[in-house]
Amino acid sequence: MFTFFIGLIIGTSALIADTSPISVEVRPGKVYIATSDSGQHLNFDFLLRNTSDQKVMINKVELSVFDAADKLAWRDFYDEYGRPSLELTRNPSLAPKGTALFYNPFHTLPKDIPLERLKFEFSFSTEDRLKTYSAVIEVKPVSFVQNTDLILPLKGRVLVWDGYDYNSHHRRVDYTQNFFEQIGQKTNFQRYAIDFVIVDEAGQHYRGRTRTNNDWYRNRPDEMTEYLSYGVPVFAAGAGKVVAVRDDSEDRKFDPKALASDERAFYGNYVVIDHLNGEFSLYGHIKKGSALVKAGNTVKQGVQIASVGAAGSSLFPHLHFELRDGSGARTVEGLPSYFSNYKRILGSSTKSVKRGSINTGEIVTR
Ligand SMILES: [Zn+2]
Repeated sequence: MFTFFIGLIIGTSALIADTSPISVEVRPGKVYIATSDSGQHLNFDFLLRNTSDQKVMINKVELSVFDAADKLAWRDFYDEYGRPSLELTRNPSLAPKGTALFYNPFHTLPKDIPLERLKFEFSFSTEDRLKTYSAVIEVKPVSFVQNTDLILPLKGRVLVWDGYDYNSHHRRVDYTQNFFEQIGQKTNFQRYAIDFVIVDEAGQHYRGRTRTNNDWYRNRPDEMTEYLSYGVPVFAAGAGKVVAVRDDSEDRKFDPKALASDERAFYGNYVVIDHLNGEFSLYGHIKKGSALVKAGNTVKQGVQIASVGAAGSSLFPHLHFELRDGSGARTVEGLPSYFSNYKRILGSSTKSVKRGSINTGEIVTR
């Protein structure tokens, strides 16, 4: 991966170049291309820094994609006028001396576009528009090659409640903000995480009366056993060596102070498997006392390792699954994941998939 940035300042009254107060970096440093039926996906962020003492607006981001012969293959932009995106209509701004992550809005491109070199051009201005700034940054993404064979970690009718699409909560973690700075969080370990829940044929993940989403959130059932996922077996998605286990935390209790002694405390309880090839899988929020493995155990693909719970920072029972590049949390980045031999449930029919990626909204089964 190769990145660089050029910043320049263009004053409105004079053509005197100066050092731009705005810098742009790509995070994480290694940008992967993950593929699905809907195209090529790029899951990375821009780290923006404003060293001036004025608030700065982000007015435009433009992308040009070049092939290996440096010929243009795609061009697109978002701005506040012609193509206002969700990002830009929120009038994103950088506080004086502020830092923020800006989520790459060009997250999916058609399958046939050669993604050799991506040039991003940013335009910024002060609120009064008297000063404008620009920055250019380039990205050379690489295709993600997964070393581990993975199968679905749950059996039954499984809904991806939230995955790693552009609007997913896993993806939108701004670790430059105070809370994360204070706990030493430098990366987004859940960039590609998947929350699995067991559902019935109607897509409900609990028994009993039907609830609206708002009702579900405000007045969720207190009995964990009302949830179809609660206590169901969690299976090792891939073979490897167990490197971390915790199963002594209560359901739906998360105290940020716990992060001081356990950087994975977000998950409450968890199992981490090292696949011994640079890839690790993490199974989060498992039920108290349900771990069937210990650190140091070797596990085969498909063996039960725990049961689904709602420990840690979790609203209801679900399995939070991640493929990632380390076992901890503070400096670990998420990795894309492809699964083998599952079925997509498409209404009254199913479609067998030899190997594919799974994301928000999909209903799948082993
Ligand atoms: Zn999750």
